[in-house]
Amino acid sequence: MEELLRGNREFREQFAADREKFLRLAEEGQSPKVFWIGCSDSRVIPEQIVSAGAGDLFVMRNIANVVPPFGTSGDAVGAAIEYAVLHLHVEQIIICGHTECGGIQALEAHLDTAREPHIARWVEWARPARAQVEASGVPEEERYLETIKANVLLQRKNLATYPCVREAVEAGRLTLRAWLYDLHTGGLVVYDDETQEWTEAV
Ligand SMILES: [Zn+2]
Repeated sequence: MEELLRGNREFREQFAADREKFLRLAEEGQSPKVFWIGCSDSRVIPEQIVSAGAGDLFVMRNIANVVPPFGTSGDAVGAAIEYAVLHLHVEQIIICGHTECGGIQALEAHLDTAREPHIARWVEWARPARAQVEASGVPEEERYLETIKANVLLQRKNLATYPCVREAVEAGRLTLRAWLYDLHTGGLVVYDDETQEWTEAV
């Protein structure tokens, strides 16, 4: 705990150095152009990955960067989507998965549904990605990474089931992107909709 409070003392020095920007954000409100949907994993920090700061990204993180289809799950995810699209008018939504994702790995585990019912139910939203990869005949050793990638694309597809998202995309006001963060390199791998391939960002 002491470490966190010491961290805040250090942060307040940064705050003081950039006081004008922080006060403008406080007084004028936020207007981020990007909505980032990522995993809760402590190693995958959106702002750190893209060198962004306060006011740059509207962020929602949950286990395995999941977006349950419209009308199927609790309100937390839908509320963030509606706020980002209808109120903040973001121009891009990035779904960013990552290598070594424990949420995807959990699909292989036998979860105790009595002891951890929420995890057991939640990861099922990624199950179709696992099934798709399995059916595609990808070699065993590549399945984990391929499932992580397929899950990002699956959740992006789910995102388009939200009427506000669909309308904004059709009107050309919003782009949906699928990204993957590589824990081993710090780099991003980006899905190209034209070639339908994942390519390393330069
Ligand atoms: Zn994860």
